[in-house]
Amino acid sequence: MSDAPSSSVDAVRAQLERDAEGAGYHLNPDTRFVRDLVDGLLTNRRRYGYLACPCRLATGIADEDRDIVCPCDYRDADLLDWGSCYCGLYVSDEVRRGQRALAPAPERRPAKALRTPPQLLGSSRRLEGTVPVWRCRVCGYLCGRERPPAVCPICKATADRFEPFR
Ligand code: SF4
Repeated sequence: MSDAPSSSVDAVRAQLERDAEGAGYHLNPDTRFVRDLVDGLLTNRRRYGYLACPCRLATGIADEDRDIVCPCDYRDADLLDWGSCYCGLYVSDEVRRGQRALAPAPERRPAKALRTPPQLLGSSRRLEGTVPVWRCRVCGYLCGRERPPAVCPICKATADRFEPFR
């Protein structure tokens, strides 16, 4: 999503939709529901200075909340497993086309993310060599995450075209 501040829910929703479609993602087709979530995102941006997930309790400490800045670190895995992100803002292509029912995604954010004292947080906390790196065999795009994205944001190749990168 663009970093440009906007107070218009509809303008931000439209920008989110353009960004999502351009990167191979889809917003929930329920426009009213999406507007409510965007309103929550904008409230969090006013409150914290960043787009903290509207469905989770942010701390207001940027380092501690980094994994839940929208789109959060858990979106792609939730789309693969459940067909939607935790909030339901993003849905999979199957859900969008009505080929899969929209089901609530359980929280996959590690509980420790909520308990780590701010003084122990560092910029490499989430990497520490434990996050696999995936390479798109079509265009070479690299990403670090538990599983490959459903669709490559660069060339739109599907997840099965990714391989572990060493
Ligand atoms: S759960 Fe959805 S709305 Fe919440 S931060 Fe993740 S991608 Fe954004």
